[in-house]
Amino acid sequence: MFTKDLIDNLLSTSIEENLHKKVEEIKKRDKEINSFITLGIEEAEKTSKEIENKIKDNKQGKLSGLVISIKDNIAVSNLRMTCGSKVLENYVAPYDATVTNLIKKQDGIIIGKCNMDEFACGSDGTSSYFGPTKNPRDTEYVPGGSSSGSAASVASDFCDLSLGSDTGGSIRCPASFCGVYGFKPSYGLVSRYGLSDMAMSLEGPGPFAKDTYGIALLLDVIAGKDSRDTVTVEREKLSYTEAVENFNDSDIKKMKIAFAKEFFEGVDEGIKKIILDKIGNLESLGAKIEEVSMPNLKYAIPIYYLVVFSEFSSAMSKFDGFKYGHYVGGQDIVEAVSSTREAAMGTEVKRRVLLGTFVTMEEFRGKWYTKALKARSVIKEDFKRIFNSYDLLIGPTMPTLPWKIGERISDPLSMYSADILTVSANLAGICASSQPIGNIKQLPVGLQLHADSLCESKLLKGMRAVEIACGGM
Ligand code: GLN
Repeated sequence: MFTKDLIDNLLSTSIEENLHKKVEEIKKRDKEINSFITLGIEEAEKTSKEIENKIKDNKQGKLSGLVISIKDNIAVSNLRMTCGSKVLENYVAPYDATVTNLIKKQDGIIIGKCNMDEFACGSDGTSSYFGPTKNPRDTEYVPGGSSSGSAASVASDFCDLSLGSDTGGSIRCPASFCGVYGFKPSYGLVSRYGLSDMAMSLEGPGPFAKDTYGIALLLDVIAGKDSRDTVTVEREKLSYTEAVENFNDSDIKKMKIAFAKEFFEGVDEGIKKIILDKIGNLESLGAKIEEVSMPNLKYAIPIYYLVVFSEFSSAMSKFDGFKYGHYVGGQDIVEAVSSTREAAMGTEVKRRVLLGTFVTMEEFRGKWYTKALKARSVIKEDFKRIFNSYDLLIGPTMPTLPWKIGERISDPLSMYSADILTVSANLAGICASSQPIGNIKQLPVGLQLHADSLCESKLLKGMRAVEIACGGM
């Protein structure tokens, strides 16, 4: 296990040396990749010295000096937090998000804040005010979004682990496009305190890593109830890392895995073939694989975007230029707010604010938002039915390979369509993962697993099973 060996190595060699190597790589290659918006090297060096001392006394935390990057919509005190937007270009977070605090307590070294689609609205990592992130596999291609910098920084070996957020696929999509592991926890398992909200009923922070063990390790640190986020719930008692470590080949025989043909409709032939091949590997190791149906998947995109537009326009109302960030001004309050927003928000953000305001207007409420919420429960029911009989649902993460930078940015509908396989997990509040299982012409293909709400250990075991059956990165 890669991350486990790395920790063992770090304990016997040098944390400062590991950090130093990463910083050198960032300086050499991140001008091109653009995975960071802000670096915190000085603070990271100070922390690494402190952790070296803790290790001498055998008092180090679970993360033992691993280098960690954090998406720029999650607060790290005294570091700039831009959400990839001009709106917050000069905003410095005055406090730590709960997840940041937990990482610091367990001796993770925070190296910096990652590039992202503006306010997490995007699927390819190119809508940031700070310029597009590029795919480390081939810099002509998009890295996936919205947690583009998180995935790219792990794939480039600029850090050992990263934290992103997933509202409709923003962890799984870039994980798939950059060839790393990404994990969207069940809704409420990880605190959103200190996460700038995009669509509060759908989102949450989650880990990126280079293997299943790394995902389990960071999840062990960040999961659990938080009094500062009232929707959080108690986690399973067992340790996720132990669940992964104790899993072995013979456990694959006990797994019941479903696949739904709807998750393969419209998917590139090459991707379909690789995923079906890997499902075959699991079957030959004894997993029970059966076909099920997910009849309402075709409604997932319209439902998701109606919910997102509505919740996003409400979340963005605080960015009026008076309380936070960029301010242009005007003769009266209406002119001041609109000229500030006009000047500081990007096209996609404005589009969502306008559409969200429209669909939640009193006269349309029953027509759009309420209907979307009702339809959302139908998707939930589909998953419930599947998880009554199966441990996992397996399929591709993305319907296509990464596209060239610039190809979809002015075509919102084709950008939204990329989310068809990821958004339903958010609508249902269940957990889902993406892991690399192959390449087509050097571009990575991600395999997606879903498990029922708060069944993360089942999902992690599934990821480990795929790792055993199909190999890692
Ligand atoms: N691509 C989706 C969107 O643009 C998901 C974003 C996310 O998960 N933050 O809404």
